[in-house]
Order: sequence, then structure tokens, then C-alpha cells
Amino acid sequence: MFRWVKSRLFLLALLLLAAAYMAWQGAYTWRVPFEWAWWRYGAIVLPLLAAAGMWVAHRWKKDVLPSAASLWVLLIMAVALNSACNLYAFVEPWRLHVPVLVTMASLCLLWAVLRAGAIAFWVVFLVLEIMQVCGFLQYGTRINSLVVAEILEASWEDALAYLTFTNLGMLALSFVLGILFCWGLRRTLRRQHSLSLFNAACLFGGAGLAFALLIPPNRVKQDFFWPVSEVPGLYTSVAEALTINEATINIVESLESPTNQPSKLHTLRGGEGVVLVVHVGESIRADRMSLNGYERDTTPWLRQQKNLINFPDCISAACDTCQAQIAMLTDARRDIHEKRPGMLPRTGSVLDLFDAHGFDIYSFFGRRCAQKLKYDRVVLVLTQRSKQKFNAPGSPWTAVPQMQEVLQKAEQGQNLLFFINNEGSHTPFEHYDRKNVPFAPAASNFEDPSSQAQEVNNAYDSTIHYTDEFFRRVAEAIGQRPFVYLYVSDHGEYLGHDGMWGRAALGESHRAYHATTGCRVGMFLLYNEAFEKLHPHFGAALQQMRTNASQTVAHEHVFHTLLGLFRLETPYYSSALDLSSPQVQPYDGPKP
Ligand SMILES: [Zn+2]
Repeated sequence: MFRWVKSRLFLLALLLLAAAYMAWQGAYTWRVPFEWAWWRYGAIVLPLLAAAGMWVAHRWKKDVLPSAASLWVLLIMAVALNSACNLYAFVEPWRLHVPVLVTMASLCLLWAVLRAGAIAFWVVFLVLEIMQVCGFLQYGTRINSLVVAEILEASWEDALAYLTFTNLGMLALSFVLGILFCWGLRRTLRRQHSLSLFNAACLFGGAGLAFALLIPPNRVKQDFFWPVSEVPGLYTSVAEALTINEATINIVESLESPTNQPSKLHTLRGGEGVVLVVHVGESIRADRMSLNGYERDTTPWLRQQKNLINFPDCISAACDTCQAQIAMLTDARRDIHEKRPGMLPRTGSVLDLFDAHGFDIYSFFGRRCAQKLKYDRVVLVLTQRSKQKFNAPGSPWTAVPQMQEVLQKAEQGQNLLFFINNEGSHTPFEHYDRKNVPFAPAASNFEDPSSQAQEVNNAYDSTIHYTDEFFRRVAEAIGQRPFVYLYVSDHGEYLGHDGMWGRAALGESHRAYHATTGCRVGMFLLYNEAFEKLHPHFGAALQQMRTNASQTVAHEHVFHTLLGLFRLETPYYSSALDLSSPQVQPYDGPKP
């Protein structure tokens, strides 16, 4: 009986501590209407389960809860585990009490079910999570399907490049820590009855969820529920890496590189120090850029650039990032799954040709943006000649210092190609200047967008404003080098347009996509005078492009325009699809 009282005292102390902490954080700001997402029921169900379990244990004359001493040790272990392995433990907003309670619940539950077998899970989990922390700190990337795909497809040389002294040391250390942790766990829990551990797990889980309920719903992040939130993420990363959409990947992988045919670059000899930026944008509707007359000033910087050729009527090939990328970077003219004759790709990535003609390619990707692996692997194939690939941790702006580093290290005359594909304005519209929101109040919660249409629209417009500042920073980083920047968004977005939110409603119905205004996307070309003056062809091509800019253009023009602008001669080039050529034909495919 005494033990039961002590355990209860422990629980009381723990809950009071967490409550005091919440009050101190000022988190008691309930929002109405309150949304009952499925997980929120856990805050009621789990304590009920715990009460039932405690009643059964009492009837069976078993321990109702684990001993107070073991609960204290569990608490210390949970805090230590979060401190060492949870990337989000100390990130603002600081909600450490939720993952600590969820960790304690996970420790108890796994031991209750698997007993000592739980050790196998925790060793693997600890190693993966420490790898994740190291990966994030060093490379700015979490373990996601892209990383898993990279690991699976890595050559020995690639793999060796990551087996640095630090990484090997960390790996060994994580094993030692994992074993120490599991030894401690076994010592603490082996004498505890499974039912008492189950009761404790339900209580801690319920308490964790109850505290999460007190956080305003739009600020609750999946990451608060670490380590439980990590398991599906790690699982899907691997599952996607192994299975999803092999067909698309196979098609793209089977394409012959355009460098297998003879080609010649007529304008550059090398040593000019040109920077060509190819930016595959995310989810920017043309009608949401002030550049195209939108009443809100979403693109204040672009709007003021005189060396800018804007394409106000650009039609995207598909509502899917992956298909759009194929249409832009290869000579495919439409979505490859439509299988239209004459519209399928005959060759691979246009970037290969620039690599073959002396450009060093550097790719700048975003963090994971909830894409399927198909996208991850296709973009890897299309950018496979990159000298280096970067992931931007958090904000897309963090790619700018990475570019500055590349520019500093590269030789002055080295021609460079920067390929950019970050989150941009992808749902749930997270990347905008939070300290100085241009269009407030903005809400990036995409759970029920129509109920907060204005806030979601504000967030979307703010992401475009943020991307405009990204363009400015990149141009500033490139500085005096001759540069040309081609931006094309992959697909649009629906913010109540055509009765839809996001793009999920479209599914695979491509005809419907081209019947909506969501397929008209942002596209422009920006250059500086140093580039224009570098070769007489550049000046003439840019002039011609300006003349053609008011036509209806499409993703199918990107491949040929890049070739035409640089006069890169290859059998795959078609002047009818080159926006810098007087022979160009406007897009005649489906459009709204
Ligand atoms: Zn996309």
C-alpha cells in the first residue's frame, strides 16, 4: 500500500511540475472552435484504460503501478533520451514535457509487451536517432525517403565519403550509449509487473496528450509526440524508398543521357564565371504574383527588376511535382503518364549537357516537403551530375549561405549551374517571415483550410513574398558574376479556387487540372548586364525572348530554351520550343 501511495506522489509531483511549466509558458490559451483530431481522444481513453488496468491489478493483488523509485529513474532516462536524440526537444516553442511523458509511456508500454525484447527496439531506435541528429547538424537533413534512397543507391565512394572520423566515432558512441541505456532500462523495469507498466504507460500517454490539448491546435506539431511520431516517419521513409512508383523511376532512369549524342556549346569557352540558376519552384500560381498584376504586393523585389522577362501565361504540365520536373528538365512535353505520341521524352536531363560543357552543378533542395519517394528519386536522377547536393534545414533561405560558400570556393572563372528545388509555397505554407508577417493574420494549419480561408490565403501570399526575398538574396550572393536565373513553378495551388483546397482533390485527373486556373504558374527569367554583354548571342536571344514573353508558354519550352539561350547544339534541340528563337511556337496543349 505504501508503495502505491509513493507512486501516486510521484505522479502528482510530475503532473504539477508539467502544469507549472505550462502556466509559465503561458500556453493556457484555448482556442474555440476546438478541433477533435483523432489523437485528442487519447487524452480521455488512455486514463480510462489506466483506471481499468489499476482496478484489475488491485483485484489480482498485483502492483497497481511500478515502484516510485523506478518511475523516478524512468523520468531521468526520458529527459536524457530527449536531450540526446530528439531534434526538437529544445526548439522553440519549448514543449519538452510532452515528449518526456510520451517517452516514459513508450518505455513502459514496450517493456510491458515485449519485456527484455524491447531492448532490441531501443538499440536500433537510438542508433537511428543519433544518426539523425548528427546528419541534421552536419548536413542539414533528417532521415527521410531522399536520404534512404541516397543510402540505397550510394556507390562505395559515396558511402566512404560519409564514413568520416566524426561519423564513425559518433556511431560507436551511440552503440555504447545505447547499450548503457538498455542496461539501465533492464535494471529498472525487469522486476516490474507488466500490468503495472501498462497502467503507467496509459497514465503517461494520457497526460502527454492532455498537455498537448492545452497547446493551441494550430501550434501542435507532430514532433511534440516524439518518439512515437518518429516511428511512422522512419518506416515510411524506408517503405517509400523501396516500393513507391518504381515505374516512373524506371522510365526516367532508362532515358539515355543527351550527352550520348554529339553536342557543341557555341557561346562559352569556359573561364567566364557564368552562374546559371535553374529554379524549379513550388506551387506558385501566376495570378498570385504582383508581377502579374495581383493587387497584393507579393513580389516587390521582382517587380522592380528591369532585367527581368516575365511570362505571365505559363502552363504547367501536371499537378504532380515529379511529372512537372520531368517535363521541364527532359524533352518530355507533357505528363509522361498520358503517353501521348510525340510528347514522351527521348532523352534525359538537360543539366547533363551543361555539365558536359564545363558547368559545375550544385543542387539546393529543401527539407522534406511530404513528397513521395518517386519525386525524391526522380529529382536525384535528373540532377545526378551535381558536384554537391545541399538540403536546407528549416527555411529555404538557409540555402543562401550554402551558395555563398560554393561561390567562394569555386574558381573565379568557373561556370556554375545552381539547381534549386525547395519547399517554396508548398502546403501547408510554412515558410514565411514569422517575425514580420507581410500578410497577417496568417495560419499555416492546413487541417480545415476553408474554415480559416483568409488566414490560409494570407499564409500562401506570405510564402510568395518570402520566395521573392529568396530571389533577392540569391542574386545578391551571386554579385558581379554574369548570371541568368530561370524560375518556373511546378504546378499551382488551390485556395478555394475552382472549389478546391490544396491539390489532393484533383487526384490523377489531369484533364480536370488543365481545365482549372491552378495550372497557370509563375515563370520568369532574370539576368544581369554582365551576362547580356558576355556574348552577342545572349543579347539577341534575350531580346527575342522578351518579344515572345506574352505568348502562352509551358514547361515543354524549358529544356529547349536553356539550350537555345546558350546556343548549345544537340540533335534533341527544337527551335519551335525555344523561347529565345524567332521560330518558337506557343503552347497549344490543354489549358483553361
Ligand atoms: Zn510540387
